[in-house]
Amino acid sequence: MKFTERLKTGKKVYSFEFYPPKTAEDTAKLFNTAVELMALSPDFVSVTNSSSGVAPYRTVALCGVLKAQFGLDVVAHLTCLAHTRAEIAEICSGLRKMDITNILALRGDPHNVAPDYRRRDYSHATQLIADLKKEGGFAIGGACYPEKHPEAATLDADIARLREKVEAGAEYLITQLFFDNDYYFRFLEKAAAAGVTAPVLPGLMPVTSYKQMQNFTTLMRVAIPDALRAGIERWDGDKDGMFKFSVDYASAQAEALLKGGAPGLHLYTLNRSRAAMAILKNVKGKP
Ligand code: FAD
Repeated sequence: MKFTERLKTGKKVYSFEFYPPKTAEDTAKLFNTAVELMALSPDFVSVTNSSSGVAPYRTVALCGVLKAQFGLDVVAHLTCLAHTRAEIAEICSGLRKMDITNILALRGDPHNVAPDYRRRDYSHATQLIADLKKEGGFAIGGACYPEKHPEAATLDADIARLREKVEAGAEYLITQLFFDNDYYFRFLEKAAAAGVTAPVLPGLMPVTSYKQMQNFTTLMRVAIPDALRAGIERWDGDKDGMFKFSVDYASAQAEALLKGGAPGLHLYTLNRSRAAMAILKNVKGKP
């Protein structure tokens, strides 16, 4: 069953996110990771796409390999800020050739767009979603932000834009990572009240270092609960202690999300399998 259909049935959906590696060594590591994670039968894996506009085919190629060689259902991320409409149509044609019919449609981050690559055909993801809908044949997803997108004035304003995304053709949503489930459940309530009915898959990522935690707060503006901060400070510098703490924290978070009715989990893996495997093994099969 395709994961988009599974999402509609209420069965839990589990997925992993990868990014296209840049070196041969990293590519070999990623393929090892994919082999290990396949043992957990994910419903899909997704592959990120750089906002820069440079080398969009890295994503297309990796999607093709993961689908053809690993038999995985694949979602290709597609950012639009750096592309013309003609380039987007060409990328879609490449995805079709690889038999990839799932796209997570994104705007991308303006500060990451390479100089001379800002083509100005798109300013928001909704425009891309509308174009993909016109292209036809793709199951389209979109991004959402339980703590609001950093550029949005308020969560309500962000959710009003999100509704436009869903009306344009986004069939499901995947959240920005978050560490406090209250934000997710509050977001769901507000989104439903605003008429956003698409399933919202929570994005989870175990924190692996103090520095990474600081990046989450400064770049993504996500809140770090006191218990998480205390644990990260306690275990920083102790690799095994940190691993256990962060997997336990993410597993408890995941269990509470699933119990609370989340349609599944999307795990940000950073191309590594150990933490993602441990978390999924801890939660899969539990109600
Ligand atoms: P949009 O939906 O366009 O929203 C961006 C902001 O604009 C929001 O504040 C929104 O409220 C506002 N807005 C929307 N429409 C309008 C409008 N018509 N007028 C005025 N304001 C509007 N980045 C990558 O580079 N590559 C990836 O592969 C990638 N994958 C991601 C996966 C997930 C699950 C998530 C949550 C994010 C991902 N990102 C990725 C990051 C994403 O590109 C950034 O967060 C980006 O800043 C916003 O993208 P968006 O698609 O949510 O944008």
